Formats: sequence, C-alpha cells, structure tokens
Amino acid sequence: MVRLAVTFLGTSAAAPTAERGLPSVAIKREGEIVLMDSGEGVQRRFLSESLGLGSDMTVLITHLHGDHVTGLLGLLQTMSLAQRHKPLNVVGPARLLKWLEVTTELLHIGLTFPISFRVAKPGVVLRTGGFRIRAARAAHSVEAYSYVVEELGRPGVFYPEKAKALGVPEGKLWSRLQKGRSVTSGGKKIESAQVTGPPRPGRKIGYSGDTRPSAGLVRFFSGCDLLIFDSTFSGRDREKAVERKHSTSAEAAELARRAKVRQLVLTHFSARYTSVSSLVREARRFFPDTVAAFDGLSIDVSYPA
Ligand SMILES: [Zn+2]
Ligand SMILES: [Zn+2]
Repeated sequence: MVRLAVTFLGTSAAAPTAERGLPSVAIKREGEIVLMDSGEGVQRRFLSESLGLGSDMTVLITHLHGDHVTGLLGLLQTMSLAQRHKPLNVVGPARLLKWLEVTTELLHIGLTFPISFRVAKPGVVLRTGGFRIRAARAAHSVEAYSYVVEELGRPGVFYPEKAKALGVPEGKLWSRLQKGRSVTSGGKKIESAQVTGPPRPGRKIGYSGDTRPSAGLVRFFSGCDLLIFDSTFSGRDREKAVERKHSTSAEAAELARRAKVRQLVLTHFSARYTSVSSLVREARRFFPDTVAAFDGLSIDVSYPA
C-alpha cells in the first residue's frame, strides 16, 4: 500500500503556546508534499519531521490572517538556502502573491526556484503528480477557503491467478502491474487492466481552515477519509465562536457526522485551553471517531474498506 501520512506541524489558534505552534498540516505521499497553511516558524517543524525542502510540493493557504501565512516567508528562504530549484506550487487568495512579492523584495530574499501561483477559487484549483485539489469558500471574517486533497485514483484489485495464467512470474513484474503499469513478459506486452479490476477511488483529506460550519461545507467534505476541522472553542464559549467566525469542537463533530467522513481531527485550539480533553469529549457525543491534533501528531490514512 502506498503510504499517505498527515502530520500536524502546528495546532494552535492565533497565538502559539509553549506546546503548540501556529497552524500547518503536511500531507506526504511518495515523496510529494502538500502543506496546508504555513504558520510562523513552520520551517523548523518541517525540518524536524524530515519532510524534505527539495520535494515536489504544493502550499495551500486558506486565508490571509497572520497566524496562517507568515511562516511561508521563512520556509521559502530556508528552501533557497538549501538551493531548491524545483518550482513550488502555491495556492491562496490573490493578495497572497502580492505579499510574497513585496516581502521577498524588501528583505532581499533571492529565491532559487520559481513559484507557480494559483488564485484560490471554488472548484478544482490544481492537479499535481499524485493529487487533485479542490477549494470551497469557508465562512470566516475575511475571504477564506477550505480544501479537499484527493489522491488520484488507484489501480483496481490485483488478480494473481490472471497474471499466472498469462505467464507473468511473481515478483517485480507483479508489483508493476499492481501499480497500474504495463510489463513485458516472455516477449508479450501485458497491460495492468488485464490482471486488475476497475480503478478504485483514492484517499480524500479535507481541511477547513478557519470557518463557521455550513451546509456547503457538509457537501464539500462529504465522504472524506480524514477531516481536519477548526475547533477553536469549547461549547461554553460558543458566542465567541459565532462572533469571531470559528467553530466549536461539537460543531466540527456535527458537521463530520453529516458529511459521513471516516475520521475527524480537531485542531486550531484557542490558547485559553490548557487541556483540550473536554473539547474532545464534547465532540465525541456527535462523532465518536474524533481525536485532537497536537504538534508532531502523524496519522497514516488507510484506504477505505
Ligand atoms: Zn486562525
Ligand atoms: Zn483566521
């Protein structure tokens, strides 16, 4: 199975705490990285998780609030010091590019690689080597987007008896066929489709960024294997969540239940809570398969059964 790991680099809201850095989540699959938000100091966490500064990489920024963005500048500078040459995909609100141009110029940061910038808008925003990335409008105090990162379809079920019948010896050739590639065996070309079932859907990761829950987001995140959702407040501070356009942990769980996702990860916790165990308890009443993110948490996402 191809490993798809989701690693939390920062899990605090607005201000960092001694334990939690500012928001950032990395998805890694076969050497390709998708980084969602880029809180201050993210490059240090990026290095400690051995994510690889020269990787094929896409950065998705949800909105232009400092806690989600300012780490990008440091990350770009560290990548340049490491002599990155590969282009970097960046997706976000239009003014993100302006901020990058102005700050890199003012601080004399000479980038060693090009930035391929896409303006975030509802719908498919990018296809990469391994993923299709979609965006939807979030309900926050400024223009904000949520993202779904979907693994490109994986090959169908492999039938060893069919491979044997075609005279393909077990080993390397089988594994190539399983990955959807064709092989040559005994002078004959064998296509993957001859020995596998129809392609199956890939794994789907949803990331809300800062938002109130909404019916649109229920639809957008429908069927995600892993949903990472704004959980800034406990239910007892719900007025603050409404006023500041965030969600409570119970609201995140209610949305996860309605969207029929497989697992929910709560993140972006207000620094006012020294422990988030009560937020997790409140959420599990609506959606039992809920965990709280912490800095360094890494989750291997399996294929659905
Ligand atoms: Zn935030
Ligand atoms: Zn915000």
